[in-house]
Amino acid sequence: MADSQFDVVILGSGPGGYIGAIRAAQLGLKVACVEKDPTFGGTCLNIGCIPSKALLESSHLYHKMKHDMAVHGVVFQGVELQLQKMLERKDDVVKKLTQGVAGFFKKNKITGIQGWGTIKSATEVLVKKPDGSSEVLKTKNIIIATGSVPSSLPGIAIDEKNIVSSTGALAFPKVPKSLMVIGGGYIGLEMGSVWSRLGAEVTVVEFMDRIVPSMDYAIGNRLLKILQDQGLKFRLNTAVKSVTQNGNGLAILLEDKAGKTETVEFEKVLMSVGRKPMTVNLGLENVGIKPNSRGFIEVDQNYRTNVAGIYALGDVIGGLMLAHKAEEEGVACAEIIHGEKPKINYNLVPGILYTHPEVATVGKTEEQLKKENVAYKSGQFRFLANGRAIASGETEGLVKILVDKNSDEILGAHIIAANASEMIHELCVAMEFAATAEDLALTMHGHPTLSEAIKEAALA
Ligand code: FAD
Repeated sequence: MADSQFDVVILGSGPGGYIGAIRAAQLGLKVACVEKDPTFGGTCLNIGCIPSKALLESSHLYHKMKHDMAVHGVVFQGVELQLQKMLERKDDVVKKLTQGVAGFFKKNKITGIQGWGTIKSATEVLVKKPDGSSEVLKTKNIIIATGSVPSSLPGIAIDEKNIVSSTGALAFPKVPKSLMVIGGGYIGLEMGSVWSRLGAEVTVVEFMDRIVPSMDYAIGNRLLKILQDQGLKFRLNTAVKSVTQNGNGLAILLEDKAGKTETVEFEKVLMSVGRKPMTVNLGLENVGIKPNSRGFIEVDQNYRTNVAGIYALGDVIGGLMLAHKAEEEGVACAEIIHGEKPKINYNLVPGILYTHPEVATVGKTEEQLKKENVAYKSGQFRFLANGRAIASGETEGLVKILVDKNSDEILGAHIIAANASEMIHELCVAMEFAATAEDLALTMHGHPTLSEAIKEAALA
């Protein structure tokens, strides 16, 4: 057992942990990053953002070649799905990026350690390695960036074969005949889209009366209709009471809001009812850190826990469970440890849903503005009237911009568009600089582009 002395030891190598490690190393701190899994990169790179986007891209191409190309005068015959190859490509993408993190660690002289990290004291982290050996890392600061794990419903156990979390849904060895997605949030709709495009009959069950409840209501409603047109089925206002094995399939007991029950059968179930913070066996009790009633580690605005020298960030502290939010916190926390005073603008965290078309939002929804009694105006522009969208055959969607009625300052922006994930950042920058709709409307936009719809919505 060797002892080593660090300025910062980070538990977890997800976007919060590895970006924080790189920033701390750039600032001249001696950093170790401990990761329990065989590869660095956390949920995002291994089983989250990246593999899901790889499959979304592949399945979109397959579906497009099969159904949407003849209109362009491009006719494919015998379009064939080689699922194994698709999954291998996804794994290759993941490998490239996780190896990239290992490379960044090397380049920045960060000690990356594979093993389970436990906090022994405010200045010691015990690492249990896969070969059974262990090491104590001595450190001035600890950052807990252990992320989150999938949640389930009471009495329903995820086996990653038939009842899967997103992790299992990234690796079905064959296209299921039918898939029930429990939970109509970001992950459920993305993975549901993947398997629907590949040929599964997909039904999304959602307890609320709408999908993606955090989304602007009108935008969410429009998305619901688009996904229904694509063949996904939805059962809103419906609770899943139980899932039981039934021969080769699963029997799922549903109950609607009126108490009416029904049993339906599906081959597979994807449980996507949210994620919970990962705080198990971290040794929190050794230092007196107590997760709050929802399981999250509480921190102040400088990511400090109640124990001096121990910080936490990313999914494990709650807020929006998004990779870019974790990354920004990683950078900010490293700078705070180094003695700087960074600040994150949590009002401007973009949220992106990578269905087709994509949905991207930033700032306030109409419902939030109403609740906060803010006098606002809404301007919209639909892609049906956008030249580039018509030329590309991507006319589904709209840009909606919400501004303060008196000052004209942009308060929220919501886009449904083929390329919404890339377009939203114009609005993020504008809002960061407190721009008005007039500023956007007066900004020349290249023609023909989907982004012209942003200018038009601002004009509206
Ligand atoms: P994580 O990425 O969860 O990393 C935590 C790491 O800590 C893990 O590697 C874990 O193994 C490690 N760890 C835990 N305990 C210990 C321990 N005791 N010792 C050592 N290591 C430990 N977000 C987006 O912004 N965009 C997306 O498109 C997107 N898509 C997603 C799709 C899916 C299917 C999923 C599941 C998530 C998606 N997310 C997306 C969410 C995103 O992945 C998370 O918000 C992000 O990874 C959180 O980063 P983190 O650093 O806080 O934690």
